Amino acid sequence: MTISEFRKEQTKQLLNSTTPSLDVDCLLCEVLKKNRSWILAHQDEMLDEQSLQKLNSFIQQRKTGLPVAYIIEKKEFFGLEFFVNKNVLIPKPDTELLVEKAIQDIERNSENKILKIADVCTGSGCVFISIAKQFEKTKNIKYFSTDVCHKALEVAKQNSENILGKDFTKNNVEFILADLLDNVTEKFDMIVSNPPYVPRSIVNDLLLDGRREPPLALDGDACYISTTDSNYGDGMSLIRPLIKQSFELLNDNGIFLIETGEYNAHLTRDYLSEIGFSNITTFEDLSGQPRVTRAIKK
Ligand code: GLN
Repeated sequence: MTISEFRKEQTKQLLNSTTPSLDVDCLLCEVLKKNRSWILAHQDEMLDEQSLQKLNSFIQQRKTGLPVAYIIEKKEFFGLEFFVNKNVLIPKPDTELLVEKAIQDIERNSENKILKIADVCTGSGCVFISIAKQFEKTKNIKYFSTDVCHKALEVAKQNSENILGKDFTKNNVEFILADLLDNVTEKFDMIVSNPPYVPRSIVNDLLLDGRREPPLALDGDACYISTTDSNYGDGMSLIRPLIKQSFELLNDNGIFLIETGEYNAHLTRDYLSEIGFSNITTFEDLSGQPRVTRAIKK
């Protein structure tokens, strides 16, 4: 079977995907270890038996709804390639806005006063690693990467070593197994986070497509003690304690940057102001949704 025949046949198989031909091409790229332009330029090449077997098994997995990123164990984010597995959320383009805002704030801070940055609920590590990559040669910043799941921290560490190098990781990154910032005593100049923020009812709907992302990384209601809590359903059960802890652990003029859902951005702003943060600003993502909120501790 040629590449062209495979592409035509398999694209038709991925009925539930919104991007069937892209999916098939990504799987081809992975198995043949070539980029997409090579695939497009070599449509008449024959696929050998071994490649075909692997491709068919990938297609079967994709048919169950498993995202391509989990099948090939990688995802591009902010121009970097991250290793991912089912212990971490797949990095999403929305989160690039969080990284961009953090980078702008660090660049604006020309006196180099941002020396310690915490990335809370780090997951794959894509947020702090993308920031660190930007400044690895120009600024001496220390990163603290926290997660409640040790398997996620292992992924973050692997990505940090792959992308920033083993030495950089050893000297400049600390991985902390913690529920948000519980028991952390370090003070920070910036705290960034993409915490679980999706209301549980929406999590259940999201996962119906078979994507199998870890519910723990999405469920913003997980920390409510019971479903009768008056706030249950707002997806804010981690965001509120995180805001409180961040206010305590940020140095004066410290910056807090958080990704939230379009449905709870306003609640996040209200709570930031209730706790005492100033200069609260919300930024919209590419589809015009309120996605990232920044606040300063004055
Ligand atoms: N919108 C994100 C997703 O679907 C939610 C991420 C989160 O809860 N932090 O992956």
